[in-house]
Amino acid sequence: MEINGEPATAPPSSTFDTLLVLDFGSQYSHLISRRLRDLQIYSELLPCTADILDLSWKPKGIILSGGPYSVYENGAPHVNWTQLSQLDVPILGICYGLQEIAWHHDNENVLAGEKREYGHAKLKIETHKGEADHVDKLFQGLGNDLDVWMSHGDKLSHIPASFSVIADTPNAPFAGIVHDSKPYYGIQFHPEVSHTPKGTELLRNFAVEICTARQHWTMQEFKGKEIARIRSLVGEKGQVIGAVSGGVDSTVAAKLMNEAIGGRFHAVLVDNGLLRQDEAKIVHKTLTKHLGIQLTVVDASQRFLGELKGITDPEQKRKIIGRNFIEVFQEEAHKVEAAAANSPNAGDIEWLLQGTLYPDVIESLSFKGPSQTIKSHHNVGGLPAAMRLKLIEPLRELFKDEVRILGTKLDIPEDLVWRHPFPGPGLAIRVLGEVTESQLRIARQADKIFIDELIANDLYRKTSQAFAALLPVRAVGVMGDKREHGQIISLRAVETTDFMTAVRTHFDIENRTFLDRVSSRITNEVEGITRVLYDITSKPPGTIEME
Ligand code: GLN
Repeated sequence: MEINGEPATAPPSSTFDTLLVLDFGSQYSHLISRRLRDLQIYSELLPCTADILDLSWKPKGIILSGGPYSVYENGAPHVNWTQLSQLDVPILGICYGLQEIAWHHDNENVLAGEKREYGHAKLKIETHKGEADHVDKLFQGLGNDLDVWMSHGDKLSHIPASFSVIADTPNAPFAGIVHDSKPYYGIQFHPEVSHTPKGTELLRNFAVEICTARQHWTMQEFKGKEIARIRSLVGEKGQVIGAVSGGVDSTVAAKLMNEAIGGRFHAVLVDNGLLRQDEAKIVHKTLTKHLGIQLTVVDASQRFLGELKGITDPEQKRKIIGRNFIEVFQEEAHKVEAAAANSPNAGDIEWLLQGTLYPDVIESLSFKGPSQTIKSHHNVGGLPAAMRLKLIEPLRELFKDEVRILGTKLDIPEDLVWRHPFPGPGLAIRVLGEVTESQLRIARQADKIFIDELIANDLYRKTSQAFAALLPVRAVGVMGDKREHGQIISLRAVETTDFMTAVRTHFDIENRTFLDRVSSRITNEVEGITRVLYDITSKPPGTIEME
């Protein structure tokens, strides 16, 4: 099927009031968007070098993020201030952003401070009775003293012409500034981090009171609009194919497609033989029976296990699994297409569904400086390139917790919505060393005991990800008075909000006997295991998965 002209797509930025965050490379930039989303205000992030006059939508306001550079150094990133002011919307500069605003007004007033300021500071708010209406709006209702978090080495030497000071700290006399007639603000501290307790209220003041953005970004609203967008994008006859894994992202994406185009969406689950106990069966039942999604399960386990024979290197395992996945999925797509061709209103399959989330998009968009190549997320898995399909990514603008809320709005069962992430290569990277049927069986049994116990003890939702891994070494144990030389299971449970950093779950504090119970069950019930270890490594330096 040919699509004539541009399909009528309406990304959230064209239907929801949007705040644009321009990123200068701070490690907190994504948190600014995150905080605004918590306030039900839609927000997107673009690199500071983006051509903003070229956008197809107009932001309600702009936030300039922090960044690791110094505005006065050669090669430091800068916005096009003429373009920015032409947009004629409120602007808030945070840290580097404040320095950037000051620098554009007078490029001699930012210098290296005598000492770096890193950590907590007490901010004093200055009131300006009788001045322009907008001047006091940023700190409105936040009190006279504010606990804030600072992280900077540069500072303003003097206030730019036409600006006034609205806040200061003992070390930063220009910690908050405002333009006398325009809604341009700068703050030296970071309102987006949790160490600035009233930071979200300040961002609300900016977005709602100053930019007049509506707080209408809800998953209920998004759901309706996204379903309509998918319909117009795919057209009357378009067919879409997508891989599902049983995880929350692919299930939510699949359910959304199902609501939008019903049987013209074809879900495929590739059973690579590396799934958890009964997983293919459970996913099949949930997706078809409960969610009404048209699903084909392809049992390719022998093919994957055959190719993995004798392989112990983690990278090689991942590559073999990735390549076979693409091949199996492609073969299946041809079959689905041939079958669909017989139905009366079917066109060709021209779309591929992918459950890309906003953090991946941010990762590819954020400002990394001129020397670094920007990673493209479009070729995740190499599928679209290999299949010459167009990508459809309904979750592209969402953070993980938004996906979960959307899942509940789509009536996806709670236990699925809150499922821990599971890696694409599956148990192959949790069975260290060679992956064989018998090793997989041991890993599956141990994992099931661990997860079942987490659920039974109400700990599953408190951990972000948990699993059992099988180590390819042996240790001595005594079982029934007999010496056993068995294998070792390593348990991993971590807590994290963004999966970028993680710490192990401290079962020892509130649930002292939990690990003892899991250990005892595993050594008793899983044949061949003589020892159970608990992995206490943080990420970094560890990763969440073993390989
Ligand atoms: N690099 C600038 C400074 O040190 C800005 C720091 C920041 O934005 N956190 O002042």
